[in-house]
Formats: sequence, C-alpha cells, structure tokens
Amino acid sequence: MNPGILKLYNIKKNYSVWLFWVLFNCCLFSTSFASSVPDLGFTIHKLASGVDGHTVLIIGGIQGDEPGGFNAASLIVTHYDILSGNVWIVPNLNFLSIIKRSRGVYGDLNRKFDKLHPKDPEYQTINRIKKLIVDPKVDLVLNLHDGSGFYRKKYYDNLHNQNRWGQCLIIDENNIDAINFSNLSHIANNTIAYVNKNLLNQKERFHLNNTQTKKGNKEMAKTLTYFAIKNNKSAFGVEASKSFLTPKRAYYHLLAIESFFNQAGIQYKRNFKLNEYHIKKAINDNIQVALNNRKILLTIENVRKRLNYIPLKKNSKIEFQVNHPLMTIVGSGDAYSVFHGNRQLTRLSPQYFDYDFTLDAIDMIVDGYHKTIPFGNIVTVKDNFIVKELKDHRVNIIGFTKKGVSNESGLPVTKQNIIKRYSINKKGSIFRVEVYKSKKFSGMVLVNFDGKELSGFNVAFKQKSVNQTKNLF
Ligand SMILES: [Zn+2]
Repeated sequence: MNPGILKLYNIKKNYSVWLFWVLFNCCLFSTSFASSVPDLGFTIHKLASGVDGHTVLIIGGIQGDEPGGFNAASLIVTHYDILSGNVWIVPNLNFLSIIKRSRGVYGDLNRKFDKLHPKDPEYQTINRIKKLIVDPKVDLVLNLHDGSGFYRKKYYDNLHNQNRWGQCLIIDENNIDAINFSNLSHIANNTIAYVNKNLLNQKERFHLNNTQTKKGNKEMAKTLTYFAIKNNKSAFGVEASKSFLTPKRAYYHLLAIESFFNQAGIQYKRNFKLNEYHIKKAINDNIQVALNNRKILLTIENVRKRLNYIPLKKNSKIEFQVNHPLMTIVGSGDAYSVFHGNRQLTRLSPQYFDYDFTLDAIDMIVDGYHKTIPFGNIVTVKDNFIVKELKDHRVNIIGFTKKGVSNESGLPVTKQNIIKRYSINKKGSIFRVEVYKSKKFSGMVLVNFDGKELSGFNVAFKQKSVNQTKNLF
C-alpha cells in the first residue's frame, strides 16, 4: 500500500472521540432496530483535550428552523480542536424538525423542560438531554438560537424591541447558586462586549436579555436554560438574528462561543478564518456518505441533485455512515434523500443487486503509478488511470464507453473520455468506477479529476440503517 492510500485512512479527531462514537453507535443499534422509523435521535460529540479543565456543553437545533445555531454547533465538532478542557456538543437536538424545516414537528421542544407527559413523542429526547445537562462534569451550558429581529430593552421600532430575540444573550437571572460560573450577568456582559468588538456592522450589536424567569415568567420556566440553572448549572441562551443569512448567524454564534471558551479557560484551534465566506465554505466542505459497509462512498460536497442507478443491496436495509453530524439519509418514495441540516442535497435512485463479497479492492495504474484502492475510497487522478484487469470481475466506469467493450478494465481513461454529466458532482470532475461479478455488485471507487486531493472518509459520525420501504415524507 503506498503513502497516498494510507492518507485516505487519516483519522481526524482524537481517539476519545472515536471511542465515544463506537460506544454511541452500539447504543443506537440496540434501540433503533425495533422501530421502522429512521432513528433521528440527537448525537453527542465529546471533544476531550486530555488536559484538565472545565466542560462546556453546546446545544444546537432545539428548534428546527434555526440553522445559524445548529451549523455553528456543528462547526465546533468538525472544524475545531480543543486543546484544554472539554467541549461537549449536541448539534442536532431536534433532528427531525431540522430536516423538516419546522420549528418543532411535535411542538416547541424548548417548552418541554418543566412538566412533560410520558406519552409525549419527545419524552425520551428530553430525558436524554436533561441527563447530559446534569452530568457532574458539565460546568456551563450554551443553548444556540436564531431569533427574529433585534432585541432591545425598550420599544424602538417593529424590528427592534423587547419582543424580539435576535442579537442577544439570554440569562434567567443575574446570579445563580453554582460552583462555577455563577455570576451569569457578568459572564454574559463579557461575551457581549467581545461580540460587539467584532461586529460586521454597528447595527448588529448584541444586548443582554435577563428574562427574570424566577419572578413568574411562565414561558421561560419551561425552557432548557431554566432547567439547567434549577440544577445549579450555569446556562446561557445565545440568539443570532434571523434577519441574516446562515453564515452571518453562525459568525455571531461562534464569536459568542469563543468568548465563553476564553472565560472558561478552554483553549482551542479553529481551522478556518472567522468570516462569512469561510464559514459558508466550512459548513459544506468534505462531506461524505458511505453506504452498505463502505462498498460505496459518495462525496456530497457540490453533489448533483440526483444520483441514478446507485447499486444497493436487494431485499435489505440501506446502511449508511456520514462524516458530518447534520447529515442523514431518509427513505422517501422510490429514492433516498441525503440531508445536510435543513437542506436536501441529493436524492439517490437505487438499482438493486445481490452483493459479491469476494473482492475488497481494485488495482489501478494512476498517472503511471500502481495503486491498490479499497472499495469506498476516492483516488485523485491528474491525467489518466487504468483499472487493472480482473479474472472474475467486470469494471464499469460510469460515463465511459468504448464500442464493443463491456468490461472497461485494462483501458487508459482520461477526463476527456468520460461524459461530464455522469459525474457525481456538479463540477463534472468526480466519477464512479463500479465492479461487478457476473450480475452481483462488488464495490465502487471514486475517481477525482479535480486536481486537489480530497481527504478520505474520516471518523464515521453515525452508522444507521433505513428501511427501503420507509416513507418519511
Ligand atoms: Zn430558538
């Protein structure tokens, strides 16, 4: 195996995160198989630095129509390294509502933290998140929201007044009885000052909104933050304005989060520049799904709206892994929809095959060099490639045809030889190489003529299965 291939197996996050995922997946499997509804339960991502320090819990997506908050939370998972202390992230608390673009499919999840009927469909979700909040390790809780307009203490105009929620930090009272971070107003004001020092526009100033929940604010008494402070946990609501597009909302969330990190002594490294352009890029970069035990890998960044004839396994569930916490696959009609947060990025139209398990990889000559590429991987090609001939297997390069040839191994292929519209990305540079044994599907490799090396499939964030028959929408 050459170094280029080893690179494909780069594990991005540290071991503790990986281990956590393995454990978490096991739990998911034991509970989700009984139900035919795809398990859209929230995920917990524990970024442990290995250096002692406080633990901050960040929650995004409590309401499904607030993408600034859940994308910001998700960026902490995918694009930050925590160097001291711990950061726990739930980026998709209300995952079903996120993909349905609804504030709350079963009502407002952020009003279910006081009393809740055990038959409420979100009873388990509430119990799980409550358990996490009261975990003795958690010192500080951030609940990320996108709110309408701009909060002001007094009425200024229709968009700027005391009934608006955008651009503010919410506390339930000034001081709480907590071991750490008990002076809520002091901490919040520090964060507000930090955000206001980094405004993109002076009209976007943050303000403090103390809801004084204890004094009889019945609505706020049902919220996540109030539940947290009743349990002696420091908690804040962060609200970016719905007047902005998602990247700008995420910008303000990340500013606030980084200020809380600073105050909690949490050191971090962010691997993109904090501005709208780079936030938008980071939200979408390097997103991938692996199907059916990684027989198939699909790059979803800049993917075409529909991918046809995806070779899925006859008479079984589709199994998938995603490398991003806001991604999931749901069955819808005769196809599968791939979601990234509240956006449906592509639909997979299946063609069903029996699977062949006698082969795991193919040998290729890529720009003159020999490489062994395991199925479910992507190989970067500058000029041309050849799939080496196989005794019992047939190669089908999707979009490539040569008269009279049904097995496309042994032939040199350049980008010019493949019809562009068969690429899986809109740019026309990533193509499918499929291998079959008689009528059985053996596996797929992607060939990337894009020039830049794409990193391979990293840590699998989730491993789930969806019934072919399931129709969620
Ligand atoms: Zn909200």
